[in-house]
Amino acid sequence: MSNNRKRRSFNSATFVVIGLGRFGSALAKELVNSGHEVLGIDYDEKLVQQMAPDLTHCVKADTTDESVLVELGIQDFDTAMVAIGADIEASILTSSLLLQLGVKNVWAKANSESHGRILRQLGVHHVIFPEDDMGKRVAHMVSGETLEYVPIDEDFVMVKTYVPHIFDGMPLSEAKIRATYGVTVVATNSGDGKYTPAFPETILHSGHQIVVAGPKAPLDKFCQLDHE
Ligand code: ATP
Repeated sequence: MSNNRKRRSFNSATFVVIGLGRFGSALAKELVNSGHEVLGIDYDEKLVQQMAPDLTHCVKADTTDESVLVELGIQDFDTAMVAIGADIEASILTSSLLLQLGVKNVWAKANSESHGRILRQLGVHHVIFPEDDMGKRVAHMVSGETLEYVPIDEDFVMVKTYVPHIFDGMPLSEAKIRATYGVTVVATNSGDGKYTPAFPETILHSGHQIVVAGPKAPLDKFCQLDHE
């Protein structure tokens, strides 16, 4: 193990990201950009060198070795993300060690349903499937129905889409979108790129962007209004 920065005590709102591949590195950088302290770990020296300037701490280590995790003080972290996908054995061993060491909030990415099932059986608190999730989101985007598609829950979604032309020029209060379609317009874009919260008096303009939330089926129907 080589540690390119001195170990220091971490406060309770710190994160460790294990595996600095495409997913792990993007996640770690975004956490740093949001003002968090992030320890990144990978056993690939080159990746560690690449990421070191962007992260609070960056360490080359094999996380399937318990003594390495203990030496790094992993048990002091509140949240860990195991961003190892292809090497299932390393993902499982690492996750199980994190749980054994008492990390309170363990997240792990799974590359397949069976991988995810094993992680859940181990007790991993949050198992995510980034490729599956992104595939589902992008399906709605490539079909041209939405510009963004964000599942909030099993059956509740938030989308960014265009105002269907039938509402052109109408105030939101007259469009009766909630009563007719069972979905709620949350925000509108006046065409200058700026979103503002939607009010009853907000005028809808065909082709302008809106953010709409609601159960999946009615929302899908609403987004297809201009495609019918
Ligand atoms: P991505 O799609 O995010 O690039 P992936 O799903 O292909 O990643 P892997 O290639 O298995 O996942 O692993 C991601 C990173 O985790 C790699 O950079 C790899 O070097 C690192 N890694 C794998 N096993 C270990 C381990 N035991 N200890 C530390 N790092 C590891």
